[in-house]
Amino acid sequence: MVNVRQAVILGAGLGCRLKDVLDDRPKGFLQLGGRPIIEESIAKLIRSGINDIIIVTGYCFEFYDRLAEKYPFVRTIRSPEFATTGSMLSLCRPGPWVQSDFLLLESDLIYEYQALQTLQSSAHENCILLSGKTGSGDEVYVGVHENRVVNMSKCRDDIKWLGGELVGISKITRDLYQQMTSLAAEKCKQNRQYQYEDCLTDLSRSTAIYYHCLENLAWSEIDDEQQLSRALNDVHPLIQRRDSETVHSKHVERRVLLNPGPATTTDTVKYALVGHDICPREKEFGDLVEGVRQDLVRIVHGADAYEAVLFASSGTGAVEACLSSVVPHDKSVLIINNGAYGKRMQQICDAYHINHIDYDINWGKPVECSLVERLLMRHRQDISHLALVHHETTVGILNELSTLSHLAERFGVEVIVDAMSSYAGIPIDIQDSGIHYLVASANKCIQGMAGLSFVICKTESLEKTKEIRPRNLYFNLYQNYAYFSQKHEMQFTPPVQVFHALRQAINEYFIETEQGRAIRYATLCDVLEKGLQALGFRFLLETEYRAKLLTAIIEPEDTRYAFSEMHDYLYQRGFTIYPGKDAAQNTFRIATIGALTEQDITNFLDHLEAYLIMKEIKLRPQQPERIVGPRSSLGRTVVEKAV
Ligand SMILES: *Cc1c(COP(=O)(O)O)cnc(C)c1O
Repeated sequence: MVNVRQAVILGAGLGCRLKDVLDDRPKGFLQLGGRPIIEESIAKLIRSGINDIIIVTGYCFEFYDRLAEKYPFVRTIRSPEFATTGSMLSLCRPGPWVQSDFLLLESDLIYEYQALQTLQSSAHENCILLSGKTGSGDEVYVGVHENRVVNMSKCRDDIKWLGGELVGISKITRDLYQQMTSLAAEKCKQNRQYQYEDCLTDLSRSTAIYYHCLENLAWSEIDDEQQLSRALNDVHPLIQRRDSETVHSKHVERRVLLNPGPATTTDTVKYALVGHDICPREKEFGDLVEGVRQDLVRIVHGADAYEAVLFASSGTGAVEACLSSVVPHDKSVLIINNGAYGKRMQQICDAYHINHIDYDINWGKPVECSLVERLLMRHRQDISHLALVHHETTVGILNELSTLSHLAERFGVEVIVDAMSSYAGIPIDIQDSGIHYLVASANKCIQGMAGLSFVICKTESLEKTKEIRPRNLYFNLYQNYAYFSQKHEMQFTPPVQVFHALRQAINEYFIETEQGRAIRYATLCDVLEKGLQALGFRFLLETEYRAKLLTAIIEPEDTRYAFSEMHDYLYQRGFTIYPGKDAAQNTFRIATIGALTEQDITNFLDHLEAYLIMKEIKLRPQQPERIVGPRSSLGRTVVEKAV
């Protein structure tokens, strides 16, 4: 199944029959649920794989222009004579921007997600969606012959064989669109009120236009007060109920990944991998990369002052690119190590012979800022950079990013943050936090596919690294940045399909919103924690240090317990859990990131409980032994090393 990726929404109309209710808003901004109906529609379009939405605006166009600022995948095009012309002239407006087959929608519709899926999976290229009887009072009846549309009318008597009622969502090929705009150019000379429905009817004689009727589809146009109240009381609640039941399609087997990335992806992100072949040196692909670059920066609020540099690699590649490219040859980087990823930064520096001063802390212990300050003070001549991990995925600890970076600022030290497993999962303001380089990858909280990593760089700092003699070629940050800036192409072959998936994942992120995602992740973690506690499990970290993205769980001491066996039992049932990593106590880990629902977590807990019962594993509910003591300095060592 290959999706149509473009949509055109007709949103110019005045809505005169709803004048009082609208109160100087376009109809799309009527609010039935938590957000305007146009935003509900956009969310469904994104979920169905659409990644380019054109809205034709007219009346109160500013409302739509604000949407285009909010969502990177929305563009608006104005139809200035909207008040005196029919919908077909509006539909002609996007002309050159329509570059493929597209879905055509009206802006005042509420509808079930199923409507889009049906058109997306229909084998017919030109296909109009119909429904059974609605009794809405403003029906457009569609006459059909065999499986093709022959005419449309508001008058039932004009129709010989009734196919159903017109919904106002259609799939149109680029070819048909060209025929429509040519015909409109003629017709509109006599009739400026020419409607797109009439145009489709006129063309249906020469071009096959098919239909698909969903007998029971819940939908409504909202054009007058009667329709509005029907929508409010009956149709909208029904749509919400039905949509919540069709979360996942049945096309790809669903696995719930509870390992800390690659995370579970949505089906639409998976489908985005399938598309036409393209040479990545074409402008079309360069545009895609540019859009992704901008939006990666936007996610951490770095507008204008930051640049994203992408690499075809796992996350470690971008960490390596950053460290190897920004630390001057005669300077040192202070590395905070309270987990495997802090240690990895030290290993990278060793491999490149980059001077580093290490602040080693027992894994799972929090950073003591006063010690960092002391080290910055003692080595103030040497240190140019402070490197730390935001969310240390080894144990799930959240390091104090802002405090540490502001500390560094006092010493004129730049900050490198490995935010691999927190980026897009916890809100980060890169400017406010005083970060110079932030490293992340496509396959964790952003919910894309593995194979792409990136560094979001403060442009001013990045420009200065031009002077540093390169330590490498493929992973040189400045070179990759300069190459793209000059050529609008990536320096080396990117994973094209993974880019498309990332584009889709970013779109879905903006639909869910920064807050929405952070709250969903935190809720998943809460549900997990409560469930595990009820089963008698204990956690490695105290709540105050946890990022709520990953839970490190102390392994049962019972001899009947074996991680690998528990893993296999759960794996067979569709759940992937993860072993622990060299923490003070033996642990296993459950990450609650990715396209997961609360139901996934409760299902997981049910299986885990069944396993414990089957194996008769006893968990002694006891006073939690605090591994991390507030401000205790036990077990903390400071190692200083200059290579
Ligand atoms: C996942 C992760 C990485 C990168 O791991 P890769 O396997 O190279 O993708 C780096 N740092 C942190 C904190 C991580 O969670």
